Amino acid sequence: MRVDILTLFPEMFDSPLSFSILKRAQDNGKVEISLTNIRDFATNDYGKVDDKAYGGGPGMVMMPGPVFDCFEYVRKQNPQKAKVLLLTPQGQKFNQKKAVELSKEKRLILISGRYEGFDERIRTGLDAEQVSVGDFVLTGGELPAMLIIDAVVRLLPGVLGDEDSAKDDSFSEGLLEYPQYTRPEVFRGMKVPDVLLSGDHKKIEQWRRQKAMERTQKQRSDLLG
Ligand code: SAM
Repeated sequence: MRVDILTLFPEMFDSPLSFSILKRAQDNGKVEISLTNIRDFATNDYGKVDDKAYGGGPGMVMMPGPVFDCFEYVRKQNPQKAKVLLLTPQGQKFNQKKAVELSKEKRLILISGRYEGFDERIRTGLDAEQVSVGDFVLTGGELPAMLIIDAVVRLLPGVLGDEDSAKDDSFSEGLLEYPQYTRPEVFRGMKVPDVLLSGDHKKIEQWRRQKAMERTQKQRSDLLG
């Protein structure tokens, strides 16, 4: 998969992309991530990319010119068709189902906003899907972009050590994950359930299913519809 990110702060991605699974996925050629600075397409020598809103109001709005020019430049860099995501709190909410859907794409282009957000013509003029990471407002689209990349890349074939680990994750089967334990068997008086020590795989499977149901009912009954 190739991922292009359009942002005013490419440096913000240095650390999240340089560790652990995301780093390994890039080193192993499972994903190629390319960052392009929208400010390189500014309208003047001072790097202007935002301006006051027509009609008044607080803050600055991202101008359409630099975003369109940056987008067209990125598109031309690589002929491969892309799914384009515009990061905005006004988009459809991102979830595990969406992560699975996006993991099947060959190329993603993510556009991160800043300030008071995008000039409306960016929203209407680019063939982009609007995506939100939740019902709250962040200062920019960089953290949402990182979150989406992380959730999508770990689903790419061969990225996780054990292919089954994503299959059992919360939300994959519409439920939260069952309780997990590791050593020691007893910690501060809290004991690992006997069934997990029994070696009876059928019973363990049943117990896990039951606990996943109970946990989902208690914490997230909305998932059970
Ligand atoms: N004034 C905008 C509104 O009310 O819809 C919010 C602008 S926000 C301060 C600046 C940028 O951060 C947005 O353009 C978007 O790219 C990003 N952003 C903030 N919250 C987000 C969220 N929940 N999901 C995705 N992107 C978000």
